Amino acid sequence: MKAMILRGISPVENEPLKMEEIPDPSPGPQQILVRISACGICHTELDEIEGRLPPRLPMVLGHQIVGRVEGLGLGATKFVLGDRVGIAWIHSACGKCHFCKRGNENLCLEFRGTGCHAHGGYAQFTVVSEDFAYLIPERFSDAQATPLLCAGAIGYRDLILSGIQKGQTLGLFGFGASAHIVIQLARYWGCNVFVFTRGETHRNLAKKLGASWASGPEDDPPGKVHCAIDFTPVGETVPRALRILEKGGRLVLAVIRKRNPIPPLDYAKLLWDEKEIKSVANVTRKDAQEFLSLAAEIPIIPEVQEFKLEEANQALILLKQGRIQGAGVLRIQDESE
Ligand SMILES: [Zn+2]
Ligand SMILES: [Zn+2]
Repeated sequence: MKAMILRGISPVENEPLKMEEIPDPSPGPQQILVRISACGICHTELDEIEGRLPPRLPMVLGHQIVGRVEGLGLGATKFVLGDRVGIAWIHSACGKCHFCKRGNENLCLEFRGTGCHAHGGYAQFTVVSEDFAYLIPERFSDAQATPLLCAGAIGYRDLILSGIQKGQTLGLFGFGASAHIVIQLARYWGCNVFVFTRGETHRNLAKKLGASWASGPEDDPPGKVHCAIDFTPVGETVPRALRILEKGGRLVLAVIRKRNPIPPLDYAKLLWDEKEIKSVANVTRKDAQEFLSLAAEIPIIPEVQEFKLEEANQALILLKQGRIQGAGVLRIQDESE
């Protein structure tokens, strides 16, 4: 099969992903073989490529995978050939540790990430345990469904962990793939949303999707926010978000890694009054499943910008520059094929 392979850590501008021909994977016991049609791109891939979250090497990146079941391993019974399935960031968890037993498999001591510890979706085929794949609701195209699997499922987790209540005001810092899905959920729950982002096009999209106010990260909104979610890869956003957070409010940090340090925080001005900061780690199967159903019901239809598999480096460079509208998706095979 064809795959875009990462063999060494490097700035993404050096275009480190190379197209190679490698053997097709074959499904082990309780695994399924998936013929991939589309795979979303994510900031986490930039963290992997540039060494902030080093993957096992060599690695096929990509953890927002949509494709069709093409083969069944010994004892795999949950799907039939041809089923359209999705694979998310959680590739496996042990099921036995104290985190797994309490439903926090995202914190599992043996957590394995798709496209980080096991080959992912920048390729024509992949394999995964049948317990870690999800049926994709019919109303989404393959490309539309990909961002639901990370940007969407983790965004859903971010929103739940923020503790936001119906009718409250939510602040979103950064407006990429995840935020543009989260705003639709928040609006569905009757929340008022302020968006802080630099790009004019991102601000316009935010307003189109229901933000009552959208401006730059340094600008003062018309009021305080009860909860905030920071999707940006930079540290400076943290004190800015805390400054406009209501007493007793919570700031959720949605990224796996920040590109630069969080500046020192003035305790009296920014943290006192029972303000909280919480990070979000990974995603559970329950998050992915619940969110896929909810997205189909609302519905949330992500905006996608498509690229070819061999354009993965260029797509990731655009992502780093904040120049992708909605979610970037690698098209691996046409849906008609
Ligand atoms: Zn992701
Ligand atoms: Zn575990």
